[in-house]
Amino acid sequence: MSQTTNILTDSFGRKHTYLRISLTERCNLRCTYCMPAEGIALSPKKNIMTYEEIYTIAKEFVANGVTKIRLTGGEPLVRKDADVIIKKLASLPVELTMTTNAVLVDRYLQVLKESNIKTLNVSLDSLSSTKNKTITRRSDFKKVKENIHLLLEEGFTVKINCVLMKGVNDDELIDFIKWGQYLPLHIRFIEFMPFDGNRWNLNKMVSLQEILDHVYKEWDKKEVIRLTDAPNDTAKNYQIKGFQGTFAIISSVTNPFCDSCNRLRLTANGQLKNCLFSSSESDILTALREGKAIQPVIQKAVQTKFKIRSGMETIAQFDNMESHSNNRSMIQIGG
Ligand code: SAM
Ligand code: SF4
Repeated sequence: MSQTTNILTDSFGRKHTYLRISLTERCNLRCTYCMPAEGIALSPKKNIMTYEEIYTIAKEFVANGVTKIRLTGGEPLVRKDADVIIKKLASLPVELTMTTNAVLVDRYLQVLKESNIKTLNVSLDSLSSTKNKTITRRSDFKKVKENIHLLLEEGFTVKINCVLMKGVNDDELIDFIKWGQYLPLHIRFIEFMPFDGNRWNLNKMVSLQEILDHVYKEWDKKEVIRLTDAPNDTAKNYQIKGFQGTFAIISSVTNPFCDSCNRLRLTANGQLKNCLFSSSESDILTALREGKAIQPVIQKAVQTKFKIRSGMETIAQFDNMESHSNNRSMIQIGG
């Protein structure tokens, strides 16, 4: 094995080829499952990576084997120089993509096209304007729906990320799937995950099995096609016979996909997280600013990655909110 692949290969032989970069901790929405009602303490501006620093760090990862970069946040498109960053990263030999709430997507359409971004993950948790307002604590539903249709018209592949929560939006599961009957939408139901301050509990989560039970109540088993998942795909993919769109379930809680994990996360303030659920971080930005080599920091972070969910192997460990209290809120991690 060459030196270059080694620094991104962990002690369980997993090769990390996918880097998610958070561009900002800020957001124009306030989703209940993502951030606490009281908001979060933002990092001082001087601690946030500049676009040059993002590019330098990303280049190092690409030189060591990263082939896919996802921009996320907070909301990546609220960052003032998002266009500059997108264009800079588009010059690297990677598949570039983004997760966005789509509120500002129309303003960035040209940049996205010029940067060869083909697929966007868009978060939308309800098809009702009222409920959407309750979940996001903002009133941008109409704009988001319009922008989703705009992206489809412009030929983008659109994946809709939907976090189902019991008693909140779980009654919309079937409506979401039916939205893809005549539109090529890929609906992805994400199991509600615990993070600092998001008032998670296991009873609010809608599990993979519960989602499938609902689906099989609506459609005969013969109508529900289990699709082949792409390598390293975190989603289990399905399609209803005759539908243009597909649906998928991301079961990080009840069926973790740690065995095939190829992801690393870089927070907006330059900390490398080797797992979404890890409370420890590796400070790449300080090393970079002090003129030190960043490869050893990356290598150590990769080498210390746990086999399963940052060491929380059982649901009981995972169900204990104390296990998550030293982690960040999702908005500060970059989902
Ligand atoms: N603002 C962008 C957006 O909403 O798409 C990008 C950042 S957001 C943190 C990334 C993804 O994380 C979103 O799809 C969101 O639904 C998901 N997410 C946030 N909190 C979550 C939680 N507690 N459980 C599961 N998914 C969550
Ligand atoms: Fe913002 Fe995305 Fe979190 Fe919602 S899920 S608060 S849009 S970062």
